Amino acid sequence: MSAKNFQPQLQHFEQICKGAGLKVTHQRLEIYRELLGAHDHPSAEVLYKRLEKRLPSLSLDTVYRTLSTFEKLQLVHRVETVESQARFEALTSHHHHFLCDTCGQLVDFFWQDFDDMLLPSALAEVGSIDRTTVVVHGTCAACARKAERSDTNRAATAESPVPR
Ligand SMILES: [Zn+2]
Ligand SMILES: [Zn+2]
Repeated sequence: MSAKNFQPQLQHFEQICKGAGLKVTHQRLEIYRELLGAHDHPSAEVLYKRLEKRLPSLSLDTVYRTLSTFEKLQLVHRVETVESQARFEALTSHHHHFLCDTCGQLVDFFWQDFDDMLLPSALAEVGSIDRTTVVVHGTCAACARKAERSDTNRAATAESPVPR
């Protein structure tokens, strides 16, 4: 991981934990720090794999429980995808997500026009709204290039005369 220090974020983290009566253990701190440095919205499993070398006593179950505790304290967000595994990110400025349905890459983007928009009034009857985020599904540029290459290969094979 990069040596970037997240002093303001970590200070905020400790404040929130203290306020909630949650002990700032080494494991909790490392899980949060790892998430702060991650830009790929890792799942609990991926986080666990990244941390297990540094934290040999860590269990996947602890990562799950810690993430849901952090979520309740609004320190992290769960990004809903159609995949079975939830993905997580440390809470930063409000943003939306582009999800590549081929490789699962999640990319942050900002959408001020959407954020300024009023939600349909019918939603008020459904319940109260805490936050509104958008997940745009598609194919990332890298996957699109890969698909194009294999299409070209297929076409080339189909067109080449079969030697007899
Ligand atoms: Zn992709
Ligand atoms: Zn994000």
